[in-house]
Amino acid sequence: MFAGHMDEVAFMVTDVEKSGHARIRPLGGWWPHVLLGQRLTVRTDKGDFMGVVGSKPPHELTDEERKKVLDWDDIFVDLGAADGFDVVEATGVQRGDFVVPHGPWETLANKNLHVVKAWDNRVGCALAVDLLKELRNTQHPNTVYGVATVQEEVGLRGAQTCAQMVKPDIAFALDVGIAKDTPGFKGADSNPEKLGGGPGLLLMDQTLMGTPVSCASSGRRRSRRGSGATRPRCRGAVPTPGASTSAGPASPAWPSACPAATSTATAR
Ligand SMILES: [Zn+2]
Repeated sequence: MFAGHMDEVAFMVTDVEKSGHARIRPLGGWWPHVLLGQRLTVRTDKGDFMGVVGSKPPHELTDEERKKVLDWDDIFVDLGAADGFDVVEATGVQRGDFVVPHGPWETLANKNLHVVKAWDNRVGCALAVDLLKELRNTQHPNTVYGVATVQEEVGLRGAQTCAQMVKPDIAFALDVGIAKDTPGFKGADSNPEKLGGGPGLLLMDQTLMGTPVSCASSGRRRSRRGSGATRPRCRGAVPTPGASTSAGPASPAWPSACPAATSTATAR
């Protein structure tokens, strides 16, 4: 199963001030630092309306306030509020309305690079579709599912329901990574996670470890304990005990060696 999530981080209107300014709360992970001045689309019963994220101007903040990340209570969405203009009447904005980023497709000076909202994770869904297209004319023993999941940004929920339905022997979550070739990363030159560096294969995060069953013990590396035992190399995945094998043995393209569990392998 190859799964990309098709939801994106967004917001919900939680209150509308008498002035017409809308208060919002995040749906998914947002860092308020990146919000000020952003254009958002507020989706109401009357249609879609442009809004701009505002706050008290820095000129009006105390020294202490300037050092802090803004609290959500300090942020509002301006839909055009002004004396003599009834925002609620004009837009219908109310509590519970969804708000999404406004980020049209743009191409940078480097024509290979593009800016648009929700790369995370339109790109994963597109990759799942491309995989299915490529595999359509390929002989293989597997039954392959391409899945576009929902509610990833609020708790990885869609992937769990899909896994329950499909019950795959092996599942790949297709998602974006972090390019570490931007200013601020130490050792960026030697880090394989960079733009154009190829796909990364994440073997673990803080909630999951890749099952050792997936590795055959034919590796060359010494164990950290120095016992002479070898660290296993990934050679091919073994179906989870009890899982259906009706689709035949799986033979995904694992990397030629298991990188350290906390690192990301990059294939070019
Ligand atoms: Zn994602």
